[in-house]
Amino acid sequence: MVDLQAQYQAIKADVDAGIQEVINSAAFIKGPKVEAFRQHLEEHLGVRHVIPVGNGTDALQIALMALGLKPGDEVITPTFTFIATAEVVALLGLTPVVVDVDRDTMNISVEAVRRAITPRTRAIVPVHLFGQCADMEPLMQLAREHHLYVVEDACQAIDAQYTFSDGTRCKAGCIGHIGCTSFFPSKNLGCYGDGGAIFTDNDRLAEEMRAIANHGMVVRYHHDRVGVNSRLDALQAAVLDAKLPHLNEYTRRRQEAAAAYNEGFRDNPRLLTPVCIPASTHVYHQYTLRVTGTDRDRLRDQLAERGIPAMIYYPVPLHLQKAYQDPRYKVGDFPAAEWLASCVLSLPMHTELDNEQLDYIIRNVNLLTA
Ligand SMILES: *Cc1c(COP(=O)(O)O)cnc(C)c1O
Repeated sequence: MVDLQAQYQAIKADVDAGIQEVINSAAFIKGPKVEAFRQHLEEHLGVRHVIPVGNGTDALQIALMALGLKPGDEVITPTFTFIATAEVVALLGLTPVVVDVDRDTMNISVEAVRRAITPRTRAIVPVHLFGQCADMEPLMQLAREHHLYVVEDACQAIDAQYTFSDGTRCKAGCIGHIGCTSFFPSKNLGCYGDGGAIFTDNDRLAEEMRAIANHGMVVRYHHDRVGVNSRLDALQAAVLDAKLPHLNEYTRRRQEAAAAYNEGFRDNPRLLTPVCIPASTHVYHQYTLRVTGTDRDRLRDQLAERGIPAMIYYPVPLHLQKAYQDPRYKVGDFPAAEWLASCVLSLPMHTELDNEQLDYIIRNVNLLTA
């Protein structure tokens, strides 16, 4: 699905030098490498504050901790996503309220959010799934009307760009009150272990989240609130700082691979290719087909036999997960999400796909669905 080894070979000198520098300095926790990467990422994204943390799940948790929510407060999130989003809501004693997604974009449905708002709703956590922004203009408008916080899960969408109707452009994660991302190795900007970051333009929230990520401490050994320990490792910051200058190029290569897939599957009536909204660019964390009129799971197995990995992100929506069983929800409540869970199939997508590999994948997918 990804080829991190080939990508490393192309930037080996810079990565190795950065790692060596950290080892020589022995500044393994915080220190100048983390600071440098933080600053470079702030400049790259055009956001006031980047707060590096231990991983994307921590980023989401710290973001929600900073909002001063009380047990029972409701947080709205899509049911078709990775589990982390709902997990942190549940861990904090908040009430996850899941809503359906759009069948075409696979992102949170703004209409469904509107219907799910109650007097207890405090925040919305849209997920920019597979690399395309959720439709943030109407979502932010809705949030303003109801005085809700918006915490973007931009773990799959770093560098995707959203254009508002007045022409304003914002990067994914820099639109709502807070944005979260992950540097998990296979993410679009991935390190060689765990890593994550929080974005915000709000000085007060930034200060709060920096303290929370550091044991709730502003003045050393004075703890004003309950916090956690979540830091971006300096060695990982060295990897990320070497990769960041290549991010535009990496995104372009993903988009080229996606364009080749789109072209290759254009005339295949059994495959629905990704649908993009005009307001957002797509950075293709995943290239996800919707397979119709043929057995998706059999197709995946047959592709595997031909040496082509394909993955199902995600086979079970949140409302049907055992750990999140809730009398409020049952099978059939979120038809788009349940349909997607039955038909999505993600093909290999990374920065090192060459034409020969793409041709081989396209040819075999078309053959097996003919
Ligand atoms: C990867 C991911 C996360 C979690 O990131 P980690 O760094 O693995 O904790 C959260 N949400 C989404 C949508 C993700 O893809």
